[in-house]
Amino acid sequence: MDLHFLGAADTVTGSRHVVEMAGQRLMLDCGLFQGFKTLRERNWAPFPVDVRSLDAVLLSHAHLDHSGGLPLLVRAGFRGPIHCTAATRDLCEVLLLDSARLAQEDARRANRYRTSRHVPALPLYTVADARRAISQLMPLPRNRDSVLIGRLSARFRPAGHLLGASWISLSAGDERLVFSGDLGRSDDLLMLPPEPLDEADVLLIESTYGNRLHPAGNPVAELGALIRDTIGRGGSVLLPTFAVGRAQALLLAIQRLKAAGDLPASLPVALDSPMAIEATALYQKHRRGLRIGAAEAAGLDQGVTLVASAAASMRLASRKMPMVILAASGMATGGRVLHHLKRMAPDPRHAIVFPGFQVGGTRGARLLAGESEVKIHGEWWPVRARVTALSGMSGHADAQGLLAWAAGLSKPPRATFVIHGEPAASDALRLRLQERWTTPVRVPEHGSTWSG
Ligand code: ZN
Repeated sequence: MDLHFLGAADTVTGSRHVVEMAGQRLMLDCGLFQGFKTLRERNWAPFPVDVRSLDAVLLSHAHLDHSGGLPLLVRAGFRGPIHCTAATRDLCEVLLLDSARLAQEDARRANRYRTSRHVPALPLYTVADARRAISQLMPLPRNRDSVLIGRLSARFRPAGHLLGASWISLSAGDERLVFSGDLGRSDDLLMLPPEPLDEADVLLIESTYGNRLHPAGNPVAELGALIRDTIGRGGSVLLPTFAVGRAQALLLAIQRLKAAGDLPASLPVALDSPMAIEATALYQKHRRGLRIGAAEAAGLDQGVTLVASAAASMRLASRKMPMVILAASGMATGGRVLHHLKRMAPDPRHAIVFPGFQVGGTRGARLLAGESEVKIHGEWWPVRARVTALSGMSGHADAQGLLAWAAGLSKPPRATFVIHGEPAASDALRLRLQERWTTPVRVPEHGSTWSG
């Protein structure tokens, strides 16, 4: 077996690995690099492998740091199948098209304001590239071995984390590679716990929270207290949120708080993201993969103002009365949340609450670090609003959850690779796993190769 670590190998984004096994060459995920500019620049580099030599891609889930490079892959000439679950296919259709539109908008803006070194600035990829990638997505059933090619078969096992998300078991004869993708937590609001790991000869395990434990508190109660406190001061709450997954968990939390009388039933709630609106419908469509019943699934968008058009979003930004606004993007790197940030950040009555993990270098990470000014569309805005994180809403397993999942193995893998984490997080998980197993546990370097 040969492994090539092309991304998420010294960082938490850009999940891309190539595995050569039983004479076939497969790619595991093809994500975008996000965060610091030096990392984002990797998105523009040519693939270090001939993508036409790949037999197939296996996609763990729809998050862009796992799927967002697929349009680049097809543009570079890949024409094979991209296997995933049916729900991941549906979500990718929403996420990849949005990613392409944002890339095209970025290029247009760079050309208008001449903020790029490149003239003319080109988009990373186009809507046509995204559509082509979507047409190559081939759903496989869950929890069943599917023969891919030659002796190779794959099984997608529920990973919690996000609608459709799976960990993947790839086998040829009695040799088995397991790729964790992103693992969810056992106490997620929407998602069921990840299925336990049972067997792996070679293991690739994520480490986003490899050095951290989730707080013991109750994030729903904490969110309720934050909202009550803010509206009591006459302010509004802005929740910069990932449109897919986190937004639906927040809608469920608000629904439960209102039902319990912990928030006024009349408190206006707006979902200001066309993508989040579409994703909510997909969560309702694929409800059987979730922890909630039909009534709560149907209630996700009941009584919520669904803001589809940009004009309606602008009107929302000028409303004075206290309300809760959910807007993408989750790390405030782009999207409609920026218009709300410009209006709300300078006013101390409001609260900006980040419910998700903030990658270093993003606007969200800077705001949470306490920066007193924020740069949006080339202008600086003072930050006087309360800025805080709601850490209990993470969709990832924490260090304890990752170790518990790995402990499902009856015998240690002959090689383990700790991927998809900031260096400190990956190394902490490596150390904990190495204490348990006598076989090697490594944090691979970006661009490195392993044979064994
Ligand atoms: Zn993910």
